[in-house]
Amino acid sequence: MILPGATLGVLGGGQLGRMFAIRAREMGYRVAVLDPEPGCPAAQVADVHVQGAYDDEAALARFAAQVAAVTTEFENVPADTLAWLRDHCVVRPPVEAVAVAQDRIREKGFLQANRLPTAPWAPVYDAHGLAAAWREVAAPAILKTSRLGYDGKGQVRVDRLEELPGAWSALGEVPCVLERRLALEREISVVLARGEDGAVAAFPAGENVHRDGILHTTTVPAPVPPALAGAAGALAEAVAARLAYVGVLGVELFVAEGGRLFVNELAPRPHNSGHYTMDACAVDQFEQQVRALCGLPLGDPRLLSPVAMVNVLGDCWAGGEPRWDRALALPGVKLHLYGKAQPRPGRKMGHLTCVAPDPATALRTALAAHAALAGPGATTPAPLTEEVACS
Ligand code: ADP
Ligand code: MG
Repeated sequence: MILPGATLGVLGGGQLGRMFAIRAREMGYRVAVLDPEPGCPAAQVADVHVQGAYDDEAALARFAAQVAAVTTEFENVPADTLAWLRDHCVVRPPVEAVAVAQDRIREKGFLQANRLPTAPWAPVYDAHGLAAAWREVAAPAILKTSRLGYDGKGQVRVDRLEELPGAWSALGEVPCVLERRLALEREISVVLARGEDGAVAAFPAGENVHRDGILHTTTVPAPVPPALAGAAGALAEAVAARLAYVGVLGVELFVAEGGRLFVNELAPRPHNSGHYTMDACAVDQFEQQVRALCGLPLGDPRLLSPVAMVNVLGDCWAGGEPRWDRALALPGVKLHLYGKAQPRPGRKMGHLTCVAPDPATALRTALAAHAALAGPGATTPAPLTEEVACS
């Protein structure tokens, strides 16, 4: 067990690392962040920022010397980095699980080998493999880079075989998966924590709505029959068990026509669709990450209130500083901002949550709060202040 007072390391300094660091510090831990970017969101709230690339051995050594245990907020940390750290301190989640989740070909292969349902798919390694993959998958399809895709980036929809070579070129002729594009009833996700002893605490499934490939809203409980919600939880738990997972895992699921469930992708870390847990669950996903990392008992994932979350992207700054006052005037609404200085379009700057007596009201109010950000009377942009580097 790693007890409060110890220093926990997090690989990656984005918003997930920031929320982990805040929670860990609330619990009495010190936090060190490894990230190349000065003043990144997690570094602003951490005790120590080791500024360096994930493959910078000197930086890694400085980082490892200070931490009792390491977790990740970013699935694209090279697996070699995690393997190196494993020789110096506790590393959770397991390196092998991160390696599976950061490579779609391996991820789908893992799911298939374990008889966990996925959309029909085939790997594409080179131009010769395109036609064979097409025959296996059948239209309509979607071509996704095997590595480094996120928020809908690194994927192209393909409706005819003739379009496939162009799509593959557009993606840089890198290894890809070709997937059948399913007719979706809805998208849901399950975020869970798994301890070293195999204990699992799953948060209730949320319904996710994406806009331009980026998560827009999560609503909890998801409006699905209890049997489907139960099956989603069981599927996520099976994924975690087969990965011998320790830590917080996000499992994105498709609900296809007729209520059939498919695993879409895995995130070996807290998930954007689990942010609601901070304001609506007895114990949230970041506290679970701390607990699982430290070998402490997992907390109670129970939902205390229906809730909705809406992401706040840089687009919300188009008309000037968003009207936080208007959003926060609505009942049950809370604001989380990540300390990013540059509000670029499509960049996740923060999120709003709303608790309400029922999920439909929570979503309606969260969306109203989001709309109010750009409401009339928005001020002109304030000059952006320099980011503050942490110690
Ligand atoms: P990312 O890493 O960008 O989140 P995903 O594989 O989750 O990549 O795809 C992003 C979104 O694209 C999904 O949430 C879903 O809306 C849509 N999508 C992806 N794959 C499929 C599919 N096979 N069928 C239907 N929609 C899909
Ligand atoms: Mg996804």
